[in-house]
Amino acid sequence: MAFKATKTRVFIVFLMSYVLIACTWWAYLLFQKNNELFNVKKDLLKKELLLEGTYNKDSFVESVPYLALEKKHSRQLRMIISEALVFFVILTIGILVVTRGLRKEVALAQQQRNFLLSITHELKSPLAGIRLVLETFFKRELTEKQRKKLSSNALKDSERLQELVNNILMAAKIENSYHWHREEIDLAQLIKSLLPRLKQKYPEVNFTSAFSQKVSSIKADQMGITSVILNLLENAVKYSGKSDKINVSLKQDRNNLLLAIEDNGIGIPDNEKNKIFEKFYRIGNEDTRETKGTGLGLFIVKEIIKAHDGNIIVKNNTPKGSIFQVSLPTT
Ligand code: ATP
Ligand code: MG
Repeated sequence: MAFKATKTRVFIVFLMSYVLIACTWWAYLLFQKNNELFNVKKDLLKKELLLEGTYNKDSFVESVPYLALEKKHSRQLRMIISEALVFFVILTIGILVVTRGLRKEVALAQQQRNFLLSITHELKSPLAGIRLVLETFFKRELTEKQRKKLSSNALKDSERLQELVNNILMAAKIENSYHWHREEIDLAQLIKSLLPRLKQKYPEVNFTSAFSQKVSSIKADQMGITSVILNLLENAVKYSGKSDKINVSLKQDRNNLLLAIEDNGIGIPDNEKNKIFEKFYRIGNEDTRETKGTGLGLFIVKEIIKAHDGNIIVKNNTPKGSIFQVSLPTT
């Protein structure tokens, strides 16, 4: 695919370059022919005047017929130059538009291929895990402790599958201009109800929270906002050390609710801070590559927040890590 795209790009660039060179050549030829024509007409005029006996070498270039001839010549010259310029500008814009479109398409195809690869892997490993657990249950006599350990592994794998399916469904909804249900939501209460689930899932992580006393409720889509919170918290865990601290805070700022999720993890380089919200984008360094994911999470988060007229920014935490700050309007 990449080879095919490069070939197409080379072909387009070759074609456009040929057209550009050919046009420059034709413009040059026209320019020359116009000059030649002017010289021929000038000679003819000279001969005509000589025959009439009115030719005067010194005053020839100031004579009315010569001046008319010169005026016509320079008008044609201007026309050739301006036509060539317009053509050149149109062609350059055309080349830029075509190559940009092609580049976008190649990037999208690349992203989709990455997505397919990661999704296949993401589906395969938990499924294999669950299968292994079930096979062990069938084949071997197990102690209660072993049964509990295996069941908990299978449960974790099925949770991973569920999260993945939820993200894919949410992304599909966003793409198909999903109609968000607006209902009154107590965000503090929603976060409080989600935190125990994460604490249970990641017992080694130190989750802390801070909620301001007076926080208004918002009119929002419960499923969407839940997906935002879970995706941000899962990321905070995924890109931090196991025993790191993750803090969730919620406060009111005039007509907005400010939700911040802070971690002390690997952090995000400044040049990646915007890109991480693109669909299927994952930071390509060694730290991230070790973790699993599809690059859908933050795309979903950003789209949901946008649909709620809010916004999300990412900042550096001190001494290390990131802060994802979401602001949602309350009115
Ligand atoms: P998915 O969420 O779809 O399973 P993912 O976590 O890789 O996969 P996103 O949640 O969209 O995808 O995040 C995109 C990228 O942004 C991640 O791959 C990671 O490189 C970076 N990132 C996101 N959150 C953090 C964070 N808290 N700390 C450091 N890097 C982060
Ligand atoms: Mg994620």
